[in-house]
Amino acid sequence: MDQLTLMAVHAHPDDEVLSTGGILARYADEGIRTVLVTCTNGEQGDGVGGVKPGQDGHDAAAVAQQRLAELRESAGHLGITHVELLGYQDSGMDGWDANHDASSFANVPVEEAAAKLSALIERYRPQVVVTYDENGGYGHPDHIQAHRVAVAAAKSTGIPAKFYYTAIPRARMREMFEQMKAAGVDFGEDFDPDAGFGTPDELITSVVDGSAVVERKLKALRAHASQGDSIFVLQMPEEAQRMAFSHEAFIRVSSTVEAPDHEDDLFAGLR
Ligand SMILES: [Zn+2]
Repeated sequence: MDQLTLMAVHAHPDDEVLSTGGILARYADEGIRTVLVTCTNGEQGDGVGGVKPGQDGHDAAAVAQQRLAELRESAGHLGITHVELLGYQDSGMDGWDANHDASSFANVPVEEAAAKLSALIERYRPQVVVTYDENGGYGHPDHIQAHRVAVAAAKSTGIPAKFYYTAIPRARMREMFEQMKAAGVDFGEDFDPDAGFGTPDELITSVVDGSAVVERKLKALRAHASQGDSIFVLQMPEEAQRMAFSHEAFIRVSSTVEAPDHEDDLFAGLR
């Protein structure tokens, strides 16, 4: 039988932490092989000193280098056994100039990127693959593209036994907003915490307890120091961070093995 293997498919350096840092660390601790696939180099992130893309002094190549170094550090904290880079160019947030660049990840034909990912799936033969939902979690073009690529590669290889989308349960999202508000974070007048953020709780199939690895997850997040401005969790009070990080939730999209409707282990039915 193949070695138990988890593969997480993400868009940018730093995405591995928030929604899957707990499972990556916990399953690595259990001796499961953990493979992180990061599709882009994150060129559209902040530069040194917080320089934003499009501003003077934003050097895409230097940003990519910095972020890939941060990714290695983060992966170290999470005990990730294999980091694989697809090497695509960051498309930037929806509406940014980089959206129009033909070589941006979101504009690469899905089949082309899926062929690269399929080769990795053939090599590692993960029983469990995790990626974003069809909205990319929150609408970032690269996250949506990572979703499409992972779905296509899982389908064409037929290798993953269980396929998942990351999720933040709606109730937990509301809790986090409350805590941030209480800590003085200003969302502005028009902000409506009930506007449908997060995944409807009834769609969640799998919740994994990561409370034993919260500290490592926080360290991994802090390793992405150059992106500190845009990592909202880092602006939350520490107690709220710990609470937000203690569990990770998922939607099981497909499974070829018997597993409970509500499970606390993504490898349920596989061991
Ligand atoms: Zn991202």
